[in-house]
Amino acid sequence: MKKRIAVARLFQETSSFSPRKTTLDDFRQFGLYYGEKVLSLGRELRDEIGGFCNFAEQSGEYELVPVLWAVGWTGGALTSETFDFLKHGLVNGISSTDRLDGVLLALHGSMVAEGIPDTEGDILDSIRRIIGTSVPLVTTFDHHANMTQRIVDSVDGLVAYNQCPHGDVYETGLAGARMMARILRGEILPTIAFQKIPMITPADKFETEKFPLKRWFDMARTMEERSEVVAVAQFPVQPWLDVPEYGWSAVVVTDNEKPLADKLAADIAQAAWDQRREFVVNNPAPDEAVRMAIEEEGPIVIADGADATNGGAPGDSTILLKEMLKQRVDKTTFLTMVDPAAVQAALAVGVGNALTVDLGGKLDPANSSPVRLTGRVTACSDGKFKIVGGSHHAISVDMGRTVVLQAGKIHIVVSEKLNPGHDPLVYRHIGLEPKDAHIIVVKCVVGHMNAYSAIMKKTIWTDCPGATPSNLARLKHRYVQRPLYPLDPEMVWTPKIERATAGTH
Ligand SMILES: [Zn+2]
Repeated sequence: MKKRIAVARLFQETSSFSPRKTTLDDFRQFGLYYGEKVLSLGRELRDEIGGFCNFAEQSGEYELVPVLWAVGWTGGALTSETFDFLKHGLVNGISSTDRLDGVLLALHGSMVAEGIPDTEGDILDSIRRIIGTSVPLVTTFDHHANMTQRIVDSVDGLVAYNQCPHGDVYETGLAGARMMARILRGEILPTIAFQKIPMITPADKFETEKFPLKRWFDMARTMEERSEVVAVAQFPVQPWLDVPEYGWSAVVVTDNEKPLADKLAADIAQAAWDQRREFVVNNPAPDEAVRMAIEEEGPIVIADGADATNGGAPGDSTILLKEMLKQRVDKTTFLTMVDPAAVQAALAVGVGNALTVDLGGKLDPANSSPVRLTGRVTACSDGKFKIVGGSHHAISVDMGRTVVLQAGKIHIVVSEKLNPGHDPLVYRHIGLEPKDAHIIVVKCVVGHMNAYSAIMKKTIWTDCPGATPSNLARLKHRYVQRPLYPLDPEMVWTPKIERATAGTH
């Protein structure tokens, strides 16, 4: 008889500094699925579930029992009702499954809900209480996860993406399924060592194919060549959370070799700590960034990473727009703005006509304010299109009703809802070709690097205020434990041997 493994994917990356809460509608935008659709969607998207499916089909040993597929766009903390709904869907789905031999989950790892800073720890702990200690629980994570002791204590084993941009989502699913299979066959007795590293780093240097991150990831892959090592999972956490027990982490899973797991985890944590200063960036102020962009040969991308729509920011910062108006930019410039009231006003006057509006700066008043602008409405769209390729393979975008407002040579794509700020289709879908512009503003840190590689001459990163800045000292943390680098730049730290889980709970 085939072994039965419950599978689910629950994914949202929270920015604690986002002014907007995440609701069930944010999940419904991508779809909330139960039953067979979980598996067919996973296969189609080639996400972690796709990897689980492939492994189960190849080995022929397992029957997958689909429970839930729920993915939400990056944003603020989940409302309590949203979290309760998703948690119960997942936990009840598992508890009502007959004859369960294992639980295999794909989680993001940095999802926060109102009053619950560690949602994944909360969910995994609840599942563990239901399934007991004899049924293995294995989880895959995004490597921007904020790993916690509670997560580590709840699982038998875990794996994480090794690549950013995340090109190995499917392969990570395969690795998780393989770990589960080895446990079920009795081939391994997983032993976990966990190191929390008190550092956070800006997203500017998150690409794993570049230094300094490449060196750290290569080190772990070398460790995995040892036969006793089952997996090394590294977590350079995303930098926009405000939760206790926060920072980078390293998890080493060995086959019943506790001292080795402890030693390798300490080594890899020390290596991360030793290179902490290499991640600090010192980007030019907005006035300087605009001046540089005007003078350079175009197209130049200015990355407004502090208003990253894929990082949880609202996408309506006016800091760069104000600076461009002040410097009277007279080269073709594209930028985006989320402002439903301005869209409404523009549609009321109609394409071809002029209007004066107070644009943007409304959703995050602590960081920017509206700018009064007179322009002409030159285009409108329903804001719907599909992005194919990239980390998420396929995204159906709905920016809401969208218009182009033109003031001099500045063309502003104004939408009712959030846009995928890293993708040129935000402009192209409404008739603006980024190749024709001198300056293009993107609302992300590095997410545009692939999508814009054939278009841009270079990217200029700038130090604006916002919900997702690279200058982490700009953020007003309230809950993080201190000291934490770089908020406490002179702090000292060395890895210590942590309490670990050894296949029992
Ligand atoms: Zn990530």
